[in-house]
Amino acid sequence: MFTALRRCGLAVMGQDMPSLFGMYLPAMPGRNGGICLNTTMGEATIRHTAAHELGHAEFGHQRCLADGPDPFVGMPRDKWPPEEKQAEAFAAWFLMPIRLVKVALTRLGLDIARQAADVYQLSLHLGASYQGTLRHVRHLRMVDSQVAAGWGRVQPARLRSRLSGQRDQPPARVWDLSALTEGAQLRVEQGDRLIVRAPWLGGDPDFTGPAAVRMRSTPSGLAPGDGVEFDVDGAVETASLLSVTSRDGRQSWSVTLMPTPDDHRGLIAPPGTRVLVGPMSGARR
Ligand SMILES: [Zn+2]
Repeated sequence: MFTALRRCGLAVMGQDMPSLFGMYLPAMPGRNGGICLNTTMGEATIRHTAAHELGHAEFGHQRCLADGPDPFVGMPRDKWPPEEKQAEAFAAWFLMPIRLVKVALTRLGLDIARQAADVYQLSLHLGASYQGTLRHVRHLRMVDSQVAAGWGRVQPARLRSRLSGQRDQPPARVWDLSALTEGAQLRVEQGDRLIVRAPWLGGDPDFTGPAAVRMRSTPSGLAPGDGVEFDVDGAVETASLLSVTSRDGRQSWSVTLMPTPDDHRGLIAPPGTRVLVGPMSGARR
């Protein structure tokens, strides 16, 4: 998504904004077109908003001011303005092409999502919101509309509580990982919990990983001996291997944690540089 923003020929700006999620203004005589993104949001929301605004640009729409956390939740589909439907469809297919959805499902050991918790895990692997992922799997006819409506009423916080075993104040996001995620790239964020179901690693395994990641001494979402848990306590600065090895050194499991700047403006431009890409920085369509 961020590579596409750099290539799109529009000025792209990330800024802390009180209420707007994103904004698109087309090019006019004497003015560059531009996209503005709210960097107080999480990475998944920034990516979704960026794809939505890019959709408006690709379709040559006049403008978009997206306010509200998920402007389309609760609004009947037939009430969406046509341009917003197009931009949303663009965002879903751009961020979640069917091949990627299938790869993510394979990592979860699934052919289709069978419960709300599967959609939640899928959303983490795809870097999308829970509701956005749910809408998309319904459009892909991977889940029946009535079932999807039921899952849409499930609060992700309840799923996080159940997975983490923490009724009060569950972690911000909870990954449920198995041997099938071996070798995957995970876009973790500060505050994430990683539950690694790997009884074959035995008790008290060793691990290596970035400084921001801590192995929990007492897992709360796993029975003793069923695996290990990690907390992401800080920003992961560069792509880093997280690797767990059994005491006898014979078994291991590893994933790559992708960089997560603590300031989300860093998603759009490296921290310390002006948060502006596009024609102003020399890129052209
Ligand atoms: Zn829009």
